[in-house]
Amino acid sequence: MSHKAFENVNRYFGRAAKVLQLTAQESMLLSTPARELRVECNVRMDDGTVETFIGFRVQHDNSRGPYKGGLRFHPTVDIDDVRALASLMTWKTAVVGIPFGGAKGGIAVDPQKLSQLELERLTRKFTQGIRELIGDMLDIPAPDVNTNAQVMAWLMDEYSKFYGFRPGVVTGKPVELFGSKGRDEATGRGVAIAIEEYLKTEQRGIAGTTFIVQGFGNVGSHAARILHEQGGIVVGIGDHTGSFYDPAGIDVPRALAHAREKRSLAGFEGLSSASDALLTQPCDVLVPAALGDVITPEVARALACKLVVEGANGPTTPEADEILQGRGIPVIPDIYANAGGVTVSYFEWAQNIQQFAWEYERVRDELDKVMRRSFAELAATAKKHRVDLRTAAFTMAIERVKLASQLRGY
Ligand code: NAD
Repeated sequence: MSHKAFENVNRYFGRAAKVLQLTAQESMLLSTPARELRVECNVRMDDGTVETFIGFRVQHDNSRGPYKGGLRFHPTVDIDDVRALASLMTWKTAVVGIPFGGAKGGIAVDPQKLSQLELERLTRKFTQGIRELIGDMLDIPAPDVNTNAQVMAWLMDEYSKFYGFRPGVVTGKPVELFGSKGRDEATGRGVAIAIEEYLKTEQRGIAGTTFIVQGFGNVGSHAARILHEQGGIVVGIGDHTGSFYDPAGIDVPRALAHAREKRSLAGFEGLSSASDALLTQPCDVLVPAALGDVITPEVARALACKLVVEGANGPTTPEADEILQGRGIPVIPDIYANAGGVTVSYFEWAQNIQQFAWEYERVRDELDKVMRRSFAELAATAKKHRVDLRTAAFTMAIERVKLASQLRGY
């Protein structure tokens, strides 16, 4: 995302604040993060030298439950970025009505340049730095860009050295180590359910609809797989190594096998190096599922899709969002569209606390219920206030957070 990331989220917040006629004081109270932590992580590298990495944890709001949010490893991570993502988590958990607040963590690092052992030492160092502020009833991290179940396992292990057996301190863990079945695919599955619900309002379905998915990591690869399984025609995919477009449809299972083996799409037959051009190719539904700020005004003017579904956090800048509104291209916003991940993180946390494991079918069915119920509430809110889906989502979320804060007493 950009150095304006937090300002961007607050512009969306501001649109909903107008609908709700919040006072300036209320807006300030609700949008300001509760706590921000910056930690220095000194790590012994494999060659014996020591390197310093800077990490952040921002806790935005906990009026509806413990702070909750992912941990990102990326060279562009900075405090503003993490603040924006933490705030999005507050609104996201409220939109889907799960009992958490919002937080986010990040380390400015290019994990591709680190060995597995260096990555493990960095994760443990960061956990030591934030350990006093996290906990299963305080703040619960999860995977995000470039972090996965293994990273969550290291975090859980490091935390447990200080506080004993507390698997609920982090979600997105390996299924073999107190993780939940269905967590891996949850965000992508949620994206597919969001799309299905929206298409229903136009008397259409996923089968026969064409899709472009940008990003082929946790969110993008599962979204592409599930859309393909449900008869969708995935005409475009791409990641940081390049992109692939074929109007006849891509062999998604082959792309998945390639990405599993090679850890990226690099070398996938027919892959072109220009990943920027992918977004503006023709399709029915565009799913940005990589980084933030990819739909700029220029891209928004050039998009050749009929619907945008935000798998990623913050993929559309506010200026671009206005252009899309002007062009009549609806956007299903991140704080609803990609909430499947944190929803199943909630199920994982609930299972950890009860020391009881759910079957995959139960996870899938409960996720389904949450996503479909939330869509109905979102659509009703949009209709009631005659606003776009993003403003409706923020309106719903702010009302819930505001009410909880009031009931507790500011
Ligand atoms: P990931 O690290 O698993 O995958 C990221 C993908 O984006 C990779 O395929 C990478 O190659 C691609 N990418 C990076 N830079 C790119 C570029 N310049 N052009 C094209 N592709 C690029 O991360 P993820 O967990 O799938 O997260 C993706 C997005 O979804 C992020 O915005 C994240 O915040 C959001 N999100 C993730 C979850 C989750 O459960 N993991 C939940 C909600 C939202």
